[in-house]
Amino acid sequence: MALIITDECINCDVCEPECPNEAIFLGPAIYEIDPHKCTECVGHFDEPQCVQVCPVACIPVNPQFVESQETLWQKYRRLQITITPVAAAPTGP
Ligand code: SF4
Ligand code: SF4
Repeated sequence: MALIITDECINCDVCEPECPNEAIFLGPAIYEIDPHKCTECVGHFDEPQCVQVCPVACIPVNPQFVESQETLWQKYRRLQITITPVAAAPTGP
């Protein structure tokens, strides 16, 4: 499952830099999570990093995005391909 930030968020900015997938961003009112980028930290950490640091515990699972561990791994791998820049082709002398 992806996670979701509820309206209890106090906009403390702590979670955003902790996300390894750059899935957290400041929305119109509060911070939000892009469910297509959130892997629940699968592939990076054992625990969701945003949940670890949130001082008001306002990041539950998103019931709209129920995903298996395997699906989260696939999302992680897909994101790596998207995020990792393609190495520049070697240029000849
Ligand atoms: S669970 Fe991990 S990947 Fe998902 S938003 Fe939180 S820090 Fe980012
Ligand atoms: S850590 Fe929690 S309270 Fe702070 S911005 Fe993130 S979701 Fe909101």
